[in-house]
Amino acid sequence: MINSRVKSRIIKTILSINIFGSDHECPICKWTGFQFYPLRHPRVGHYNAICPRCHSNERARFAFVTMQNRLKGTESVLHFAPEKSLTGWLRSRVANYISCDLNPGVADQVVDIQDIPFPDKSFDIIWCSHVLEHVPDDRKAMREIHRVLRDGGTALIQIPVWHEVTDEDPSIIDKQERIRRFYQADHVRLYGDDVDIRLKEAGFSVRTVRPHHFEPEIVFRNQIAQPGNYEIFLCTK
Ligand SMILES: [Zn+2]
Repeated sequence: MINSRVKSRIIKTILSINIFGSDHECPICKWTGFQFYPLRHPRVGHYNAICPRCHSNERARFAFVTMQNRLKGTESVLHFAPEKSLTGWLRSRVANYISCDLNPGVADQVVDIQDIPFPDKSFDIIWCSHVLEHVPDDRKAMREIHRVLRDGGTALIQIPVWHEVTDEDPSIIDKQERIRRFYQADHVRLYGDDVDIRLKEAGFSVRTVRPHHFEPEIVFRNQIAQPGNYEIFLCTK
């Protein structure tokens, strides 16, 4: 009887054997193989999703290819809710790299994004993926991100966008009701396309990037398109 851990390792090894082809490549760790590892998720599950080597998912690879050119020569990055697949890459290449999270033990520093403990204009790049939908006062968080970003710097804001108009109601604290309305018990809202208005109000110039803005070969090879809507809002100051 093979336990699930061994089974998973066998599958990952098979996926990595290039004899079956190397149609896919992880842009972060440069793994190549014929298929990524499947992600089992009721809403965004996908059979060709997770890098067997660095465990990046589609949205991390999408963020990486979007930011790749901007990262060249960057001296300082502040990374909220750091994805493990990206942390190693950023830490080894960026002189001043700081990861932070609201929860202790998962990043360099414990930081509330609504009250960032760094001086104005401290960072070239701020990386904030799938954070703001959990934050009670997201407008304050956006203003804080703008404050600590250097002039000319870029904030990568990645959030799930499902509708045209943002749906939020702070009075909803019941977990089941949040799951029903916002798709997750720890989500406080479901963003719509109108989120760029909030980002502009915080002072940013905003450009929306979607996977289909890249060449189809890159979308396929790097597998950067995830089921659901996962726009990147590139916010410059
Ligand atoms: Zn990888």
